[in-house]
Amino acid sequence: MTCHICTACGTQFEESTEPPSACPVCEDDRQFVPPSGQAWTNMAEISSNHEIKWIEEAKGIHSLQISPNFGIGQRAFLIEGPGGNILWDCLSVVDETSREKIDALGGLAAIAISHPHFYSSMMEWSEAFGEVPVYVHADDGEWVQRSGPALTRWTGEKLELNRATLIRCGGHFAGSSVLYCPWLEDGRGALFTGDTMQVTLDRKYVSFMRSFPNLIPLNARAVKAIGEAVHPYRFEAIYGGFSGRTIKRDGSCVIERSVARYISAIEDPSASQA
Ligand SMILES: [Zn+2]
Ligand SMILES: [Zn+2]
Repeated sequence: MTCHICTACGTQFEESTEPPSACPVCEDDRQFVPPSGQAWTNMAEISSNHEIKWIEEAKGIHSLQISPNFGIGQRAFLIEGPGGNILWDCLSVVDETSREKIDALGGLAAIAISHPHFYSSMMEWSEAFGEVPVYVHADDGEWVQRSGPALTRWTGEKLELNRATLIRCGGHFAGSSVLYCPWLEDGRGALFTGDTMQVTLDRKYVSFMRSFPNLIPLNARAVKAIGEAVHPYRFEAIYGGFSGRTIKRDGSCVIERSVARYISAIEDPSASQA
């Protein structure tokens, strides 16, 4: 029996003898099955020629990324916090070096995940740290491919988690969430966004999409709702879900002007005069 992992999106599935017939995450209109077709691997295979690269992004913020890139190439974050360390988002493999590093930093209190594209091997990470709870938004429950007693499906608009706040924004997925940590950046605050908000390559804006690979935008109502969800919070830095996608200054203002720019790009000005 093996927990098969989809090579395209990096999602780990429940234990089975044969690989699943398809990957629902890749079949969804937000992702894609590669031209070479559906393929499967497992954690032992990936671990044989990949490692996890750690970068200290700021005091108390470490990014973790599989090297060379695997799946969609996202980064996860080990966030040191006054209420215990949080793993934000996740990767398809757990390695011994990361386990030792996290133990040396005081262990893990919780795992929280922005949305289904980053579920990856979340239950395996939980097991590696003594069944630490894994928080995913209940609105995305249908996308969970491997479950377990540690999986916590949270509901509603926000959840206080070890002095941090999980905020449901919706948009990309119904339960797409971000994590607000007020103590980071010397008390000026940081927001971790996955791709609920994608930090743009000029690092001056964030953007919002139903699908990034298939270029499906969101409507004005969804984008306004994302802006409103984070409006009550003040933060300096924004850490997106991919390497280099970090904004270090004026995070709250960046989101306000990004929402305004997006809406002016998609709304027909003549419609608002009607
Ligand atoms: Zn997949
Ligand atoms: Zn995504």
